[in-house]
Amino acid sequence: MSNRRKTKITKSINIAVREILQGNIIALPTETVYGLAADATNEEAVLKIYETKRRPLFDPLIVHIRSIKEMKKYAEEIPAEVYKLAEKFSPGPITYILKKKKVIPDIVTAGLDTVAIRIPAHPMFQKILAKCKVPIAAPSANMFGRLSPTCAEDVYKELKGKLNYILDGGQCEFGIESTVISFIDDTIKILRPGFITKKEIQKVLKKKVILVRIKSRHSKNKLTIYSPGMMKTHYAPKTPLYITDNIYDFKEQSNVGLLDFSNYSSLNEVAINLFSDLRKLDEQGFAYIVASKVKDSGIGVAINDRLEKASKGRVKMGKWEIKFSIKK
Ligand code: AMP
Ligand code: MG
Repeated sequence: MSNRRKTKITKSINIAVREILQGNIIALPTETVYGLAADATNEEAVLKIYETKRRPLFDPLIVHIRSIKEMKKYAEEIPAEVYKLAEKFSPGPITYILKKKKVIPDIVTAGLDTVAIRIPAHPMFQKILAKCKVPIAAPSANMFGRLSPTCAEDVYKELKGKLNYILDGGQCEFGIESTVISFIDDTIKILRPGFITKKEIQKVLKKKVILVRIKSRHSKNKLTIYSPGMMKTHYAPKTPLYITDNIYDFKEQSNVGLLDFSNYSSLNEVAINLFSDLRKLDEQGFAYIVASKVKDSGIGVAINDRLEKASKGRVKMGKWEIKFSIKK
């Protein structure tokens, strides 16, 4: 028996609240990308997120809360640095990895004793948090490994038939997932680059932080826990994506899609449009897509990170084609 259902796009906060409190999943807007949300304290609801996205159960979810004040309800031993950063950047596109409290079920954190916490800035998400009064688990609203959606229509294309409602909050402000920063070890580590850059973080903390370029951690009970933000391949279109020096070398080839950033006036604009532009090219049936990396500083680090993972290490130089193994 099929459990496909009719998916509706709505602007009603009350419907979203009702769905979450009833233990259902709902897609909702955040300022980064659209999320697939459920009550983080309801294990069955959280399981629906993993099932719907086909996300492996070893891959933990971000928990969204209303305010800095609430952090200590869900995390312990919160270092002073977290508050310093939160005062500057939260609500906003930054996620803190902290020691978890028991109120967060293990399924949310994939069995880890740490929890990822973010305070989203999107006004609709803030209203939902205020009305639901529960923490909300919400990974990006895409099938696992695919492009993150940045508008309600893109969520619909990804997930139609798999949930009752998509809450439409327009185009996402940032278009790239949050910066993930860990406070678990002695050194503060950025696990996933995002809109809040390493430089900005270091400026606030007045100390060095490390941008981690590895993809696995080993827990004591032999499980290898991967963070997809740190996985080698992710955020991928169905059409193969190649990184190249000059996309215009492919201009004459009608079966090649060019991911062209030349009309954007800033890297911020490139980031905002990255996933939706890739998705548009992906829908056109090209044999492959080509893109060039951007300047590797500031938000460019996050853009290049997503391009590298989306390309799965494929590079084209003229007639030559190479597949690198990504070392991260
Ligand atoms: P998504 O919500 O799909 O954008 O992905 C959330 C990112 O946060 C993924 O890279 C997760 O692996 C990562 N993440 C969530 N919880 C933890 C945690 N406790 N420790 C390390 N990474 C985490
Ligand atoms: Mg994701």
